[in-house]
Amino acid sequence: MLILIIEDEAKTATYLQKGLAESGYCVEVTATGDDGLHLAREGGHDLIILDVMLPGRDGWSILSELRQRGLKTPILFLTARDAVEDRVRGLELGADDYLVKPFAFSELLARVRSLLRRGPLRPSEFLRVADLELDMLRHKVSRAGERLALSPKEFLLLSLFMQRNGETLSRTLIAEQVWGINFDTDTNVVDVSIRRLRRKVDDPFPDKLIHTVRGLGYVLEPR
Ligand code: CA
Repeated sequence: MLILIIEDEAKTATYLQKGLAESGYCVEVTATGDDGLHLAREGGHDLIILDVMLPGRDGWSILSELRQRGLKTPILFLTARDAVEDRVRGLELGADDYLVKPFAFSELLARVRSLLRRGPLRPSEFLRVADLELDMLRHKVSRAGERLALSPKEFLLLSLFMQRNGETLSRTLIAEQVWGINFDTDTNVVDVSIRRLRRKVDDPFPDKLIHTVRGLGYVLEPR
C-alpha cells in the first residue's frame, strides 16, 4: 500500500511519514503543491493525504485538478480550520474524507484504514445524477443549477433514490427506508410522495429522472 503525503509543514509530514511507515505503509512525501500534483497524476498511490494550505498551488486546486482528470484515488484532506465551508468545499471537489488539524495519529490511522478498505469512492455527502445534485451536509437540492425546495421526507426519499441510482426500489423498501415502518398493506403514501417529488424534480425539466417500473416500484436514472 503506497500513500502519498502532500504537506509543506516538515513537522507534520515527518510525524505522518513515521507513523504510517511504522504501521506498515509505504510512504512518499512532497512539500509542494506542484510536485504533489505531478506525483499524484503519475498514479500508483492507494491513498493521497493532502494538506489544504500549501505554498503556490493549494490543496483545493490539486483536488479539483485530479478529479477533473478522472483520478479516483481516495483523498483525505487536512484542514486547519474546523469550518463547515471548508469541509463542504473539500467534499464537493471530490475528497473522500477530511481531518481537522491538530489530530491524533490514531484518528488519522483509522481514517486511512477505512478509506483503503473502501477503495475509490465518491463521498456520499454529495450526490449527483445527471444535472440533479443533492448535498447531504447542507440539505440542499438543485437541478440544472436551480435550487429545489423539498420537504424533509421528500429530501430523504430523493437521497435514497440517488444513493441507489439505477436500482429499482420497491414500494415496501422505500416505505421502510424513508418512513421507517412496514407498509405491507398500504403503500399509497409512497405513490403520493413520489408524485409530489416528481412535480418538483422532473416536471419543470425536459429530461425525466424518476421512472415507474410497472409491478416493481420506481427507479431514478437518466434515460
Ligand atoms: Ca500547510
